[in-house]
Amino acid sequence: MQQLHFQQGPIRPPSEADSLLIRTTQGCPWNKCRFCTLFEGMEFSIRSVDDIKCDIWAAKAFYKERKFTTCFLQDGDSFAMPTEDLLEVLNTLKQAFPELKQISSYGRAQTMTKKTPQEMKAICDAGLNMLYCGMESGSIDVLKKMKKGITPMSILKSAEYAKQAGMKMMTFVIMGLGGKELSEVHAIETARLLNLINPDEIRILTLAVKAGTELDEMVQQGKFTPLTEKEMVDEQKRLISLLDGIDSQYGNFHSINLLMELSGRFPEAKSSLLATIDEFLTMTQSAQDNFILGRRIHYYSKLQDMSNQLYFDTVQQQLNKISASNQDTIEDVFYHLRQRMI
Ligand code: SF4
Repeated sequence: MQQLHFQQGPIRPPSEADSLLIRTTQGCPWNKCRFCTLFEGMEFSIRSVDDIKCDIWAAKAFYKERKFTTCFLQDGDSFAMPTEDLLEVLNTLKQAFPELKQISSYGRAQTMTKKTPQEMKAICDAGLNMLYCGMESGSIDVLKKMKKGITPMSILKSAEYAKQAGMKMMTFVIMGLGGKELSEVHAIETARLLNLINPDEIRILTLAVKAGTELDEMVQQGKFTPLTEKEMVDEQKRLISLLDGIDSQYGNFHSINLLMELSGRFPEAKSSLLATIDEFLTMTQSAQDNFILGRRIHYYSKLQDMSNQLYFDTVQQQLNKISASNQDTIEDVFYHLRQRMI
């Protein structure tokens, strides 16, 4: 009898919402970043080729006539698979779902740089043509402080391998990851590395310190000072100002970001991205607070939503209540609201 069950991992990038999900690995081969709890308590393992192939055919039977053009390989790092095994999986995927145009995966720089350029090319030719790279920062100091286990050099090398092989590349950056202590170097070095890589897409995320993480402990011990919402916008302004010579698509699509309208293709979009940031930064403190609270309690999605008087007044009432309660500062409230979003 045809097996109809197949494994699904806990995460996928938001842009893969309509993709076929096939699990090649379980967990993250590193699992030590101080800010991350994605795979907490899960030991990393590479699934057997036979099990993955069974899942592919089970997915085929389950989805019947549904045609997928994109597929995401879960969980943390398909490149950890021996190349021959990964190629076999990709070939099976193409047999079962011949309409697939894009197959993507997360890939850790340290793992990919263990492959040869020829292996990377073979992997891309077999269909894995899109890479999600969680570089988070281009600063060695920030990467070390966060125990990322990768270096700017390894990120650059893996990006070169991926691009030479013909893969598209989406790179994630986390604003605020250096805290106040390393904010400047985080922006400068991240821009420098992005300028060297010129990824197809740059996706911005905003740091929210999850309770119970090592980073949370560092905050309690005074070893990491989180940026305020406004400081994170300042940091992003510095990053954008320094991006140069690239033609990447730039986006703040995740709702954890404050200014979700910051999206566009470089170099054309650079001036309008900076103008939007300045629009926020030149608002009065009280208007900024209104906007931040309105974003965090889901009244606004963009700056222009503040012109809805009903929304504005409702948010202002909440803001006044918080100010009158005298318990936490407004920044503490923003910090905790952001924490609840992850
Ligand atoms: S490499 Fe990614 S998934 Fe693994 S611990 Fe770090 S942030 Fe989390």
